[in-house]
Amino acid sequence: MIQDFKPDFLKVYIKANELLVSSNIINEFPFSVTQFVKTQSSIPCRKFSKAKEYGVDIEAFGSESAVTIKDEGNKTIIFYNHDQLPQRVKFSILHEFGHIYLGHNFNEKDLIVYNNNEVETNCFSAQLLMPEQVLKELKLRGITIDEEFLMQTFGVSKLAAEKRMENLFKNSSNRTPEEKMYDDIILAKFMPWINSIVPPRFDNLFEDEEERQREREQWKYKNINRR
Ligand SMILES: [Zn+2]
Repeated sequence: MIQDFKPDFLKVYIKANELLVSSNIINEFPFSVTQFVKTQSSIPCRKFSKAKEYGVDIEAFGSESAVTIKDEGNKTIIFYNHDQLPQRVKFSILHEFGHIYLGHNFNEKDLIVYNNNEVETNCFSAQLLMPEQVLKELKLRGITIDEEFLMQTFGVSKLAAEKRMENLFKNSSNRTPEEKMYDDIILAKFMPWINSIVPPRFDNLFEDEEERQREREQWKYKNINRR
C-alpha cells in the first residue's frame, strides 16, 4: 500500500464544505457542535463526569479537552471536559469527530501519518467553524478579519483563531474548480447570517453609498461590541 506522507488538504477541504452545505445544524456561527455531531453520526458526546457509567477511566485523560474512547461494549464515544472553556471544548469535540469522519486510525503508530492526521482534522474543524468562503465575503464587505474578530464572531478560542489566521486565504486565490465547487452554495446558505454581521455592499448605487457606508460602519461597531 502506498502511504500518503502529506496531509490531504483537498480531501479535508471538500469534506468540510460538503458538511457545511448539507448540515441543517450549521446555519449560522457559532453553531452547536454537540448537536452537529449528534446529527452526523451515532457517536455520543458525553461529559467526563459520565465516563464511569461507561466503564471508562477518564482520569488518564484529565488534561485533554476531548477524547475518543471505545467503551466496554466496543462502542465509540467522545468524552469532553466540561470544566474547560467551551470554545476550546467545542474545537476538541470537532477535532475528535474529524478523526472519525476522515477515517483516521486512532492507534496510528507511524508518526508522520499520525501528525498528518492531526493537521487534517484541525483543518477540517477550522473550515467548519470558520469557513473560508464566509470569511472572504466578510472581508470583501470591509471587515478586518483578525483574531479578535474570529473569537467574537465565530466563538472560537484564541488558539483556534491564531491558527486560522496563519493559513487563511493562503490557498484561496488558486483554488481548483473542484475546490470551488461549493463556494456559491455555501455563500447562498450563509448569506442571511453574513448580512446580519455586515450589510451587503451596493457598489452600483452611488446616491446613497455614503449613507450605506455609515450604516456598515455602525454594523461593524455593533458587531465588535457583541459578545
Ligand atoms: Zn487528534
